[in-house]
Amino acid sequence: MYAGTGIPQRLQIGNHSKDRPVSAMSSQQLDQISLTSLKGVGPALEKKFHQLGIYNVQDLLFHLPLRYEDRTRIDSIGRLSVGQHVQLQGEIIGCNIQFGRRRSLHCVLRDNSGVISLRFFHFSAAQKKSLHSGAQLRCYGEVRRGRAGMELYHPEYKVLQDPDSEPIADSLTPIYPATEGLQQGRLRNVARQALELLERSEQLRDYLPPQLVTKLRLQSLTDAIRHVHQPPIDTSLNYLSGAVNPGQKRLAFEELLAHRLCMRRFKNDSNKQTAPQLLADNELLTRYLRQLPFVLTNAQQTAYQEIASDLSGACPMLRLLQGDVGSGKTVVAALSALHAIGSDYQVALMAPTEILAEQHLLNFREWFEPLGITVGWLSGKSKGSERKKTLDSLVTGMCQLLIGTHALFQDEVVYARLGLIIIDEQHRFGVHQRLALRDKAATGDLNPHQLVMTATPIPRTLAMSAYADLDNSIIDEFPPGRTPVNTAVVASNRRDEVVQRIDNACSDGNQAYWVCTLIEESETLQCQAAEATAKHLAQQLPHLSVGLIHGRMKSKQKREMMERFKGGDLQLLVATTVIEIGVDVPNASLMVIENPERLGLAQLHQLRGRIGRGSVHSHCLLLYQTPLSESSKQRLAVMRESTDGFYIAEKDLELRGPGQVLGTQQAGLMTFRVADIGRDAALLDEVRDASEIVLTQFPEIVDPLIRRWLGDIANYVNV
Ligand code: ADP
Ligand code: MG
Repeated sequence: MYAGTGIPQRLQIGNHSKDRPVSAMSSQQLDQISLTSLKGVGPALEKKFHQLGIYNVQDLLFHLPLRYEDRTRIDSIGRLSVGQHVQLQGEIIGCNIQFGRRRSLHCVLRDNSGVISLRFFHFSAAQKKSLHSGAQLRCYGEVRRGRAGMELYHPEYKVLQDPDSEPIADSLTPIYPATEGLQQGRLRNVARQALELLERSEQLRDYLPPQLVTKLRLQSLTDAIRHVHQPPIDTSLNYLSGAVNPGQKRLAFEELLAHRLCMRRFKNDSNKQTAPQLLADNELLTRYLRQLPFVLTNAQQTAYQEIASDLSGACPMLRLLQGDVGSGKTVVAALSALHAIGSDYQVALMAPTEILAEQHLLNFREWFEPLGITVGWLSGKSKGSERKKTLDSLVTGMCQLLIGTHALFQDEVVYARLGLIIIDEQHRFGVHQRLALRDKAATGDLNPHQLVMTATPIPRTLAMSAYADLDNSIIDEFPPGRTPVNTAVVASNRRDEVVQRIDNACSDGNQAYWVCTLIEESETLQCQAAEATAKHLAQQLPHLSVGLIHGRMKSKQKREMMERFKGGDLQLLVATTVIEIGVDVPNASLMVIENPERLGLAQLHQLRGRIGRGSVHSHCLLLYQTPLSESSKQRLAVMRESTDGFYIAEKDLELRGPGQVLGTQQAGLMTFRVADIGRDAALLDEVRDASEIVLTQFPEIVDPLIRRWLGDIANYVNV
């Protein structure tokens, strides 16, 4: 739908203006000025910016800080307390490598009021060299209670050549959403340049109709942008969750409006489209239900009825199926698929990861093949003749259900009669992909129905905004016979007891998971950590058979490992967070999650949902690393108190904000840059009214507003 404004065109503009001096660009619209025209930005860095959805100077201005740090003063080492974020300056009086449970680089920093330790668990040789005795340092970080008294872990730091003349920030320091290889310093630097351009040109188009701005007493766009990037010292540090100030209100309003317009247009478009009217083959459904070893819960039945009624209509269904982990969404998806297949249409079932897609493949083959239904498989790794065979069987209509990853919607995948798309784990796809998918999947005049399933319950406020274009079905009941998981929070110095518990549980014929997490976003490091842990546990528990599964393994290996665990051949499975989704082993009744403080509540809840599926009492042990920050303590307490996914989701939103809940790191997900659904709830009514006015009276600003805040939808879709 944005074909005319796609990337290539923009890149072209970028190339043209590349060598022009900044002053000559002043009269240009900021969205026409390329990133490479800024100092310090070359083609390589430009690519990194693209990963964040930033293509021009205007995009930079709308890349808004997540939070702020106060670096406008230097704190005294003698007057620190645990939990404080501080900026320190002093001389290094000692630096050595310490070996303990974890190897670390330990430096002692002194100012005229006292000394404090700085500790780095990951460090390079060059880093060690620069942090020598006598070096003058300025650093910023959180005060923690550590091995040597008060410590800063991994502070951001700068070695000073001339400590006396090093300037101090005179406004709050913004912290931007970042990506690997694009550090805060860089982001701040280019943001500053973008603001200078704004200052000089004032060429940022204000799309909001003046009468709206007056009526709602909104600040000017330029002022608001300036304020948010460089807030004066007296601004509340709790900016993103604190009281609303005018700049923030203006931007939050515009952002919410853009999102709302996007949803509204999506919904309008889809009401105008036609979908195949799918009528269920009741005999087929009955045959399927009869072969299940259980009966549907009432909630499953209701959900299916809601879906069935949509599927038999002439408008494409757009429905979100929510249900806690383990509530039985897959069966509802299967019924929906059968509904479409019984009407002689094809179904595509897409999952975000190969491991989850394969789990579905196993289930659906087992269920559907006895019914004479052909189930196909396609992933990014399907190659050669196998791939060709699958594609051929799709075109001919032979393949009735295709399961896989993003690969299902590559250009060369052509369906004969696609009637229904089922997307599992909606969170990871985001609204942008949802939009693009619908267009791609259309065959002729008919648009397929869409069912999106999410295992992470979505808090009401988020459902009202981020998912406003979808109808909702909720499975609010568990299959009978589940015993709630008992959760305990355990400090890592009691690791030996935990290992003993695994031993006991496995001796009783149960199975256990050990989940490794790592603070870095690096998959490689995470896999290495899991390998080391598996080795170690195998030594400690020589009479148990210990398996290992992580994201770097080949899918065949992963599958074999999972089958062995499922079959009872392995008793303990060490895993990275890849098992978060997709594994179903009812006999597993114990889960240890190492460093749970590093994960969000939703993810912890997901993981924990892998146990408690059988009849034995299950236990989840959250093995945390001391010292624990106050907010981590709160979050782990929520896990201990509750097993209700909806409650946990609300708490998560409260404690971390929507950006984090939806996952800012994962490119392409819908997140708000400045709006906060909780805090700005009062704006939602005004936003709704304004969106009606804009749609009817100012349709020409819809596109530019959406593009400004949500980016080019095309950029988000890597299919
Ligand atoms: P999720 O909602 O997390 O995707 P699943 O669909 O994977 O949940 O179901 C979890 C487990 O519960 C599976 O083993 C499934 O076979 C089982 N199950 C689903 N529905 C029922 C039911 N009505 N009664 C008993 N067990 C069920
Ligand atoms: Mg599931």
